[in-house]
Amino acid sequence: MARQISEASNGKAPESESSDSLDVHQDFGDSPLEVRTTDHYTEEYVPGFVEKWDDLIDWKKRAESEGSFFVDQLKERGVRKVLDVATGTGFHSVRLLEEGFETVSADGSAPMLAKAFENGLKHGGHILRVVNADWRWLNRDVHGEYDAIVCLGNSFTHLFSERDRRKALAEFYAMLKHDGVLIIDQRNYDSILDQGFSSKHTYYYCGEDVSAVPEYVDDGLARFRYTFSDGSEYYLNMYPLRKNYVRRLMREVGFQHVETFGDFQQTYREDDPDFFIHVAEKR
Ligand code: SAM
Repeated sequence: MARQISEASNGKAPESESSDSLDVHQDFGDSPLEVRTTDHYTEEYVPGFVEKWDDLIDWKKRAESEGSFFVDQLKERGVRKVLDVATGTGFHSVRLLEEGFETVSADGSAPMLAKAFENGLKHGGHILRVVNADWRWLNRDVHGEYDAIVCLGNSFTHLFSERDRRKALAEFYAMLKHDGVLIIDQRNYDSILDQGFSSKHTYYYCGEDVSAVPEYVDDGLARFRYTFSDGSEYYLNMYPLRKNYVRRLMREVGFQHVETFGDFQQTYREDDPDFFIHVAEKR
């Protein structure tokens, strides 16, 4: 059962379930290419990988390449209260707090939330309000209504069935105020599926000496390998979301207007961007 980890006031990081041993082993079993289930994400973000995550994303460079894109999108719409549903190690939650947004930080991975809490303190002394919750049952574990929900860093891709995607989007929709906005980003899987992979690593995953490459891709699986400077390797099995499919799902769940940006630009060539960003409005 998901649970509230902390709205801690003692300034100590909440204990993650396996924080006593820095587990570096992911378990994909004997047939890694057959691991295509939504539930598996919690086993992929083992503490060892979580510890490396910030080498992968490099906060400083990521902040430079994103600029004020997300903050501008939110401020333009008069947003005050934001739910970060894919907190990870806390990059966007901290950025939002710095900008004065009231922010709640949710994630289904306890080690990720523990790291995010630690990072909040480290980057500006912010005490993150973290909630351990899976998107499919978000309303059960996170309370209140939000002006905006953000699901960033290619996270929605962890959902492997259409049923789970619809359920998650419906939960997001329900937690937004009547005029709320949902922002989801994703890798440009259309280009990876149709043309092969050529990430320029300019946005998002900006760390030096870190590589993120798809080891295997078909219509139902994108298996990425992450290699770090110390030689350690981790994998993520993800579902390769096509851009127009995600836009359609958002509209079908009830969002009235969906605008999609390519690497933070309104106009782009379809195969060019590394990432798409969908901004979906409820009214
Ligand atoms: N947003 C962060 C970033 O950009 O660095 C983290 C991105 S990481 C690729 C994806 C995050 O989504 C992980 O922290 C993972 O635990 C979370 N996640 C994946 N599926 C989830 C689900 N069904 N419910 C809740 N969190 C989920």
